[in-house]
Amino acid sequence: MRGRGIQEGLRSELLEVVGSLKGYLLEAVDTGGKAQRFSTERRTTADAPGEGESSGEVASRVEQLAALEEELRSCRRCPLWTTRRTVVFGEGNPDARLMFVGEGPGEEEDRQGRPFVGRAGQLLTRIINAMGLSRDDVYIANIVKCRPPGNRVPNPEEKDACTPFLCRQVEIIKPRVICALGSVAAHFFLKTEAAVSVLRGRFHSYGSIDLMVTYHPAYLLRNPNAKKQVWEDVQEITKRLKQ
Ligand code: SF4
Repeated sequence: MRGRGIQEGLRSELLEVVGSLKGYLLEAVDTGGKAQRFSTERRTTADAPGEGESSGEVASRVEQLAALEEELRSCRRCPLWTTRRTVVFGEGNPDARLMFVGEGPGEEEDRQGRPFVGRAGQLLTRIINAMGLSRDDVYIANIVKCRPPGNRVPNPEEKDACTPFLCRQVEIIKPRVICALGSVAAHFFLKTEAAVSVLRGRFHSYGSIDLMVTYHPAYLLRNPNAKKQVWEDVQEITKRLKQ
């Protein structure tokens, strides 16, 4: 009974956070009460380096990602392979203009072999939906592809071993914007140890890609007060994707 009560409590907490995000959306958009869905079309001519891309190039991305995923299936480059159930490669639109990058798979992700499908993942899905997008419009990946035991933070050896795969994913997809979720992703891309609270709220550069840092959805579940900042950050991303 107690477990059920806790579950109910967590559920209402999640609903509260999502409800608030939705409130911000409706308040912010205020254009006839409808959430605006920006174009998910592949890049325009203004979006280097994907000018004038053909369907052949998109197919090539699919093939390259599939080949990389195949390579990862049997990866033993760091000790995390010994405790994983599945390799969580990442998923979404190979032609995405927006890529979310988190820290690593949790228990549910390890079980399903998909990124961001646990409680934090459900919240990320709601955030993506509140932006007027679906998970199929974006690409979602993590710094490490195998679950660190007990959901601990991946150590330097594990990150160094695994991030070349993430870099390859970024090179193949060539998103317009990357949203780094939490400090592990932010520190990897920006080579800094600064806190998320310092890094968030403005665009950084990762090569030619615009990079926004925001709080990880798991942090948001524990700290619902940060929802306003997350909403501000994703609004900036929405604006940038329209440019
Ligand atoms: S975490 Fe990355 S580098 Fe380590 S075993 Fe898994 S796929 Fe390989």
